[in-house]
Amino acid sequence: MDFKYGCSLCGTEYEILSNLMVCPICSEKQQPDEPVRGILEVKLVGSLAPQFSIFDLLPVEERYFPPIPVGNTPLWEPRNIRLKTGFDHLYIKDDGVNPTFSFKDRASYLVSAFAKKSGINEIVLASTGNAGSSMAGVGAAAGQNITIFLPENAPEAKIAQSLQYGATVYKVKGNYDLAYDFSLEYSEVKGGMNRNTAYNPMTIEGKKTVSLELFKQMPSVPDYVFVSTGDGCIVAGVIKGFKDLFQLGLIGKVPVVYSVQAENSDALYRAKLSGAFENIPTSTIADSICVDMPRNGFHALKLLGDFNGEIIRVSDSSILQAQHYLASNSGIFSEPAGAAAFAGFLQVKDELDRDARVVVISTGNGLKDVASALKGVSAPSHSIHSIQEIL
Ligand SMILES: *Cc1c(COP(=O)(O)O)cnc(C)c1O
Repeated sequence: MDFKYGCSLCGTEYEILSNLMVCPICSEKQQPDEPVRGILEVKLVGSLAPQFSIFDLLPVEERYFPPIPVGNTPLWEPRNIRLKTGFDHLYIKDDGVNPTFSFKDRASYLVSAFAKKSGINEIVLASTGNAGSSMAGVGAAAGQNITIFLPENAPEAKIAQSLQYGATVYKVKGNYDLAYDFSLEYSEVKGGMNRNTAYNPMTIEGKKTVSLELFKQMPSVPDYVFVSTGDGCIVAGVIKGFKDLFQLGLIGKVPVVYSVQAENSDALYRAKLSGAFENIPTSTIADSICVDMPRNGFHALKLLGDFNGEIIRVSDSSILQAQHYLASNSGIFSEPAGAAAFAGFLQVKDELDRDARVVVISTGNGLKDVASALKGVSAPSHSIHSIQEIL
């Protein structure tokens, strides 16, 4: 298999190089308050047998990947939820069991290998928390130096992880969007590879591996895939994976992907309706999908449009309810952003055919944000002195 870059906006093709992040032609027209222009998609040139190895579909050779077991996450068949909802072919892909407990490891893994192959040992990024802790952990396995810019309200567990893995962490006085701008400036001056989501093409490409795994794990292609959305890279990666399989003639259709946003952080949803991205302040309990300006907005909207994808919104209270429903009926404990995808499924399930094969991706582990997890349940109000009090 051969690989090259193709601009997702103008289609110009380029050789894959470590110092080329976005299409030079389209990024000329980049405005400050809009998603990234000229995101480069990795194009496949060649063909493949159905027994392929995931590495065959990645643009960096297997020997450059660090020794850390990313991906190959379990596909659950949640019996109680199947019975309760009537969906006999409902599956949960639990990406919260990746080495750093989130889906972001898929992107970090490929970025790490790409940097290694390019002889680069410094990686810089902005993160709401998970991308940073993920790159820190994967970088630790690879022996790379990781520098992270985080919003000051990032959950403690994600900061603790990043520090334990040995990364350099800067908190910025502001939100993720400010951290993003700082990280770009930092890597422009200091060099190294920037892993910013949507900016580094390998982030989206790495995320496609979830769809390649679903192809291998399921008896046939899913009809619907639910995934939560902030910057729009995971949703793009999910579609890209199926798009590759379709191009190779290994599947006959691309699933309908539901991109699930939080009601008060819904920039992609609004842009689909109005045709333009507006930068307004957002907030949600699901910190990993709290994004004012979705960096992969143009690209995600295009892929969703090309493959009949849907964008829906869920409230914070339905996210907390879905988190508890999922945990208490299946044993899968997701962070709020992970549970948002499940909340989306619960919200629209009555519109779907019950025989449909549905996959909900849980993108992050619930222990990453214990403070939020305690909001959806009632904790014991006091300690008991003797067992007689409750017998
Ligand atoms: C990053 C993240 C998302 C959203 O991914 P985007 O590419 O920003 O849309 C969803 N869930 C979790 C747990 C995440 O860490």
